[in-house]
Amino acid sequence: MFSQRFEELVQALRVLPSVGPKSAQRMALHLVMKNREGAVFLAQALNEAASYIHACQVCNSLTEHDICEICASHERDEQVLCVVESPADVMAIEHSGSFKGKYHVLGGHLSPLDGIGPDEIGIPALVERLSQNIIQEVIIATNATVEGQATAHYLLESCKHLSLRMTRIAQGVPQGGELEYVDSHTLSQAVHNRMQLK
Ligand code: ZN
Repeated sequence: MFSQRFEELVQALRVLPSVGPKSAQRMALHLVMKNREGAVFLAQALNEAASYIHACQVCNSLTEHDICEICASHERDEQVLCVVESPADVMAIEHSGSFKGKYHVLGGHLSPLDGIGPDEIGIPALVERLSQNIIQEVIIATNATVEGQATAHYLLESCKHLSLRMTRIAQGVPQGGELEYVDSHTLSQAVHNRMQLK
């Protein structure tokens, strides 16, 4: 090929999810031919991110400090804890502006076939956090996938001995969604979890 360094760049780009050899090669060509400034900027941003961003010691979300801004904030309701799978879910819920409590990020979901059990996603540590009697309500906001549901169920079972209110975010028809295009499982969940109007 052109050069050893070019090959190394292609290999490096393949660490990204869903990037195969052809996409990696296309990205590498773009960076070295069309956007060298962008390439340097990208390299610096990657270096900084990898050096300074790590997990929050309390909630396992991402931060540059020991404890993230949300955990450190006195403005947030520390009695309500929202459990999510990934920091991306924290960002999504924060963006919605609908939640003013604290978070716990599992960093994944139960997936026995991939060797991911309760210890791998820190469930014992979470149960320990919940045993300290500060949190009164846990909102389980794991994904509405088979694994997300199994994780929610496991967490519920693990907290049976604690006097906590445990809720699950509602699943159903999306805003602006037309019923005929909603899949039957989602629709049956929506009917099951219907809300009272009168
Ligand atoms: Zn935190």
